[in-house]
Amino acid sequence: MKIHVISDKCQGHNRCYAIAPELFDVDDYGYASELGDGEVPSGLEAKAELAAANCPEHAIEVTR
Ligand code: SF4
Repeated sequence: MKIHVISDKCQGHNRCYAIAPELFDVDDYGYASELGDGEVPSGLEAKAELAAANCPEHAIEVTR
């Protein structure tokens, strides 16, 4: 599983980072990006799905 933050859509709510700091980084303004290459480590799939579902801007892509 992979995640990707679509930067054009991200509005910096910081929710993804609050849910899954293991998967996301945020800059000083709260705009998010996936950590590393976006590969979701085993065991964190549910957190990745939760973060994507809770992004109000639908800015998190999840691919399998
Ligand atoms: S929850 Fe969505 S809009 Fe908010 S920082 Fe994360 S990716 Fe960006």
